[in-house]
Amino acid sequence: MKMKGYAMLGIGRTGWIEKEVPACGPLDAIVRPIAVSPCTSDIHTVWEGAIGERTDMILGHEAVGEIVEVGSLVKDLKVGEKVIVPAITPDWGSREAQGGYAMHSGGMLSGWKFSNFKDGVFAEYFHVNEADANLARLPRGLDPACAVMLSDMVPTGLHGAELADVQYGDSVCVVGIGPVGLMSVAGAALRGAGRLFAVGSRSVCLEAARSYGATDLINYRHGDIVTQIMDKTGGQGVDKVIIAGGDNDTFIQAVTMVKPGGRIGNVNYLGAGDFVRVPRVEWGCGMGHKTIAGGLMPGGRLRMEKLAALLVNGRLDTSRLLTHRFQGFEHLEEALLLMKDKPRDLIKPVVLL
Ligand code: NDP
Ligand code: ZN
Repeated sequence: MKMKGYAMLGIGRTGWIEKEVPACGPLDAIVRPIAVSPCTSDIHTVWEGAIGERTDMILGHEAVGEIVEVGSLVKDLKVGEKVIVPAITPDWGSREAQGGYAMHSGGMLSGWKFSNFKDGVFAEYFHVNEADANLARLPRGLDPACAVMLSDMVPTGLHGAELADVQYGDSVCVVGIGPVGLMSVAGAALRGAGRLFAVGSRSVCLEAARSYGATDLINYRHGDIVTQIMDKTGGQGVDKVIIAGGDNDTFIQAVTMVKPGGRIGNVNYLGAGDFVRVPRVEWGCGMGHKTIAGGLMPGGRLRMEKLAALLVNGRLDTSRLLTHRFQGFEHLEEALLLMKDKPRDLIKPVVLL
């Protein structure tokens, strides 16, 4: 049986294609999407060629859907159930998963399968490996449009706060407040940050950052952010930095503004360039105890269920991210191009099906 999907045709080129509906392995599921969202990572992949050439690969890795088929060894989930689909779907029996880094199962970044090694979720049907371990039931009453933020924006943003190891009372600077960075702001606030700086420029994002718990807003277009942070902290800098935007040189700023003993948690996907530079003197000539940690979001069912509990119990509201809602697959391209062009009023689009 054939299906339609919206694909990367090659670097810099996208379009609708037809493919066979994927086959379901014994542990797997086939899912029909009911809400999807394009990601800035799709933009890096297609327009920057960040992961290299891909031909006719269906895009998308953020979805809520309905199970239409399960394999013979799937014990728990059933056909007809609605599920949250994490962007990262590890192989749980792998050595990397046993070592605590399931997102790298099968090799670095290889837990990221959709729209990387296999067809993604912008299709009439898509395949999910190890369904019982990778899909979480959509909690009753949770709006699929809000829940689709659990695929990637919430787990990635919150992972930034984990990587930076935000502690009660820490001063934290989140650089980049698109949807990922906004969830880092929310994550840092949930983990008890004291003073919480948010760096962006578009007012829709700055206002959202305030609502997610930022205490100080910094516009990177109004001057060097290190100078602005140093001015506001009496030259001390901050305990923790979370990088969720900017470019390779953002690390220079982060290392400079973080205090000795501080941590930098990066979740930004560096789409271009060969090197990330670390400033020697500001890094304490290599002895400043300034740690740089960067990570792909953790995936899997348990993580999805726990993060869904934040929405269900009113601790986190993702509706604030959803500035553009579309109905119907025919709007997918429009939604993806919004993510590419980032108009002033955009945080995140969602397409309901
Ligand atoms: P957006 O493009 O929506 O947000 C980027 C943010 O960075 C905006 O606030 C932007 O400000 C800001 N920014 C841009 N340039 C600078 C600069 N020079 N200095 C400071 N801030 C700057 O991206 P998303 O939130 O959608 O995604 C963020 C990153 O996370 C992307 O690289 C994405 O690919 C990556 N990602 C990583 C994942 C992971 O698992 N690690 C998973 C998902 C995404 P403004 O818009 O105001 O100009
Ligand atoms: Zn993504």
